[in-house]
Amino acid sequence: MSDCDKCERLLQGYLDRELTRDEFEVAEMHLDECDYCRRRYRFEESLRQYVRTTAVERMPPGLMEKLAQLRTTDPGPSAPV
Ligand SMILES: [Zn+2]
Repeated sequence: MSDCDKCERLLQGYLDRELTRDEFEVAEMHLDECDYCRRRYRFEESLRQYVRTTAVERMPPGLMEKLAQLRTTDPGPSAPV
């Protein structure tokens, strides 16, 4: 398993602050040195914030699908930071 795969598995727990201290450090260290995962982390974080502050039923039709699609797409140069 590559470091990025490992980091990706830890990311949700990292965002939820549910990792053990060791796991947290692994994730944090990797996020510090890996641009790809850092962008992924920022994206997940902003997505969570957005979902938290936006009532789902008020979302325009298709937006949830769009967001779900974004989640599975690799963050490219045009991905939101
Ligand atoms: Zn990485």
